Amino acid sequence: MYQVITGMSKKITVISNIYFCAIATSPNILAHPIEYLKGVGPQRADFLKKELAIFTFNDLLHHYPYRHVDKTKVTPIIDLNASMEYVQVQGRLWHYEEIGERGTKRLIAYLKDETGVIELTWFKGLNWIEKILKQDENYLAFGRLTFFMGKPQIVHPELEPVKSQSNAVRNFLEPIYPTTEKLKTKGLNGRQMGKLTRDLFSLLSEKDLPENLPDSVLKKFRLLSRFEALQQIHFPASLDEYEQALRRLKFEEFFITQIRLAMVRSERHRKSTGVLFEKVGELFNSFYHQHLPFELTGAQKRVLKEIRSDTAGGHQMNRLLQGDVGSGKTIVALLIMLLAVDNGFQSCLMAPTEILAQQHFNTITELLNDIPVGLHLLTGSTPASERKHILQSLAEGNLGIIVGTHALIEEVVQFKNLGFVVIDEQHRFGVAQRARLWKKAKIPPHILVMTATPIPRTLAMTAYGDLDYSIMDELPPGRQPVATVHRYDTRRAQVLDFIRSEIDAGRQSYIIFPLIEESAKLDYENLMSGYENVKAFFPEPKYWISMVHGRQPAEQKETNMQRFVNGDTQIMVSTTVIEVGVNVPNASVMLIESAEKFGLSQLHQLRGRVGRGAAKSYCILMTGAQLGTEARQRIKIMTSTNNGFEIAEKDLELRGPGEIEGTKQSGALNLKLADIVKDKAILNAAKKTAEEIIETDSELETAENLQLKYYIMSLHGKTPWSLIS
Ligand code: ADP
Ligand code: MG
Repeated sequence: MYQVITGMSKKITVISNIYFCAIATSPNILAHPIEYLKGVGPQRADFLKKELAIFTFNDLLHHYPYRHVDKTKVTPIIDLNASMEYVQVQGRLWHYEEIGERGTKRLIAYLKDETGVIELTWFKGLNWIEKILKQDENYLAFGRLTFFMGKPQIVHPELEPVKSQSNAVRNFLEPIYPTTEKLKTKGLNGRQMGKLTRDLFSLLSEKDLPENLPDSVLKKFRLLSRFEALQQIHFPASLDEYEQALRRLKFEEFFITQIRLAMVRSERHRKSTGVLFEKVGELFNSFYHQHLPFELTGAQKRVLKEIRSDTAGGHQMNRLLQGDVGSGKTIVALLIMLLAVDNGFQSCLMAPTEILAQQHFNTITELLNDIPVGLHLLTGSTPASERKHILQSLAEGNLGIIVGTHALIEEVVQFKNLGFVVIDEQHRFGVAQRARLWKKAKIPPHILVMTATPIPRTLAMTAYGDLDYSIMDELPPGRQPVATVHRYDTRRAQVLDFIRSEIDAGRQSYIIFPLIEESAKLDYENLMSGYENVKAFFPEPKYWISMVHGRQPAEQKETNMQRFVNGDTQIMVSTTVIEVGVNVPNASVMLIESAEKFGLSQLHQLRGRVGRGAAKSYCILMTGAQLGTEARQRIKIMTSTNNGFEIAEKDLELRGPGEIEGTKQSGALNLKLADIVKDKAILNAAKKTAEEIIETDSELETAENLQLKYYIMSLHGKTPWSLIS
């Protein structure tokens, strides 16, 4: 049948009736290519595909209007006021005139009803408009209302002659669709798209859009049926109908995602095979009882328990550990790595940068002290000879713990029996990269993804919903909150004075400069001149300064970093390369230059570099005098809270989910209508309901859930479901 259709497509307008009958009886009308919709054809179809990714009837169905204009109402001219946006008026064309010179020419028409006069103005298409305008005829005019010198006006109104009183007022809300400039030139502006949707609907019946939600869910939340909802989202008879449709479809978007995620988790919990860490052995015990330099926090203990129970169940663990900066995630990871070694498995810890990998390695080396575990560091700059030796030891199983960077993912890195993978600061690693790591073992290793960039709950529920997650929301005791202040750069001298007083009291300080890709050259110059300035203020040999930035060779970076860690230098001038993870407890001041250029989570990360020791710490956000509204808001949030989870929520509100690092590429937020910030309540309800369903019917096999199952089976890729397999 497809052949026949393509053959006919050139003559499509002529034979459209026969053709559409054929389609209407087809079982899968929504899968039809968009060019076969009446009024589309090959050329427009091309543009719809390229510009809006509308390939099929189904895509068009889900191309929702972004607003509706109220054509149910005609406002008497005297009632027009500045609070109205779009209005429709009806009246007699009193007269019209062209004014202005070539280039500034415009056409003004005066429309008059019983109550007053309104000006209709055109700047473009004057010839064409003049052809339609007929004095003393009646017209309906629709458009955005403005007032000019107190008089109501519509610029470029939609104008329609009123033929008879009966069709004067059309009773519906007209959908207006997102479109593009190119489509407009093809006669598909925001309103004209509605014509296509209308034609599409005339072909559809309820059986083409079968219900996908279980009856009980529809009843419980009083949701419209799928067919009604899709019809009313496009063509509502009232605003209330539209709202109902919107609510139903938002719920559906969240619910379907949550069902799929719940199924993935449930499947993993029930079916995946995981390596078994049966016993708590010698290494874990002797470290826990003899080497632990402090009492664990309640949160650390709780997370340890959660992980231990995961790893003792015989199924693969896939867990996201969220802990605010400084909450002590490293030690938790180390304890589980020891547990793995106790059970005869190797562990690896992967960090996003060399500096971090090195630091983790140092920390762990120090903590382990005389505990007999084969431990090594592998990064891009590991010398070839050493590398060869490491790879061999790994393959033979002589190394229990390996710490490193992306270098660990490479094909040549083979483990004897990898059992546990820790990924620090996960959002710099893509899902695919993660997957490559766990393919390094016959039975997939347990995965712990750690992030110090708290993710708002709603986002974690959607973007990372395939993972189980733990939260470490408690800081080790004795930490004082970092005092955060905003200073204009006109007061740099005072700020540097303050830093000097801290240094003279034995502390250290960070001074951070932005380095942003788009303005890299300029930023780099700023960094250099900033460095010179700091150097002039803190002269050698009394003061020593380290400088670290991305353009240095790894070795030099490392040396400079190390000098600061050792306390040989008191000041670290740096770009954000030190953003994550670096731990120098003696540092008490974090000065961030051009703080307005940083995002909230970055600022919070940077601030987390101080306040790690016993001393009172300070974070100084320095900005120019000119601040945009958003920058001002960010600064205000930073000075008002130290809580990373709170900041993450605010960040999400300010920037929206699409902008949050790590979610853009994940494809997990396959949401068209729902918004995880504004529709939190719906998300929570959908998630709870989805989990209840999967708990009792994990494979969706009961009669009631079958329609849901079929629907989910009909979907492909795109959502978290596909991220795991
Ligand atoms: P993050 O969660 O940001 O990775 P780290 O693991 O680097 O935090 O820990 C931050 C600092 O807190 C380290 O110096 C670490 O030794 C210390 N620390 C961790 N847990 C505790 C604890 N329970 N009590 C005291 N200090 C702790
Ligand atoms: Mg860390």
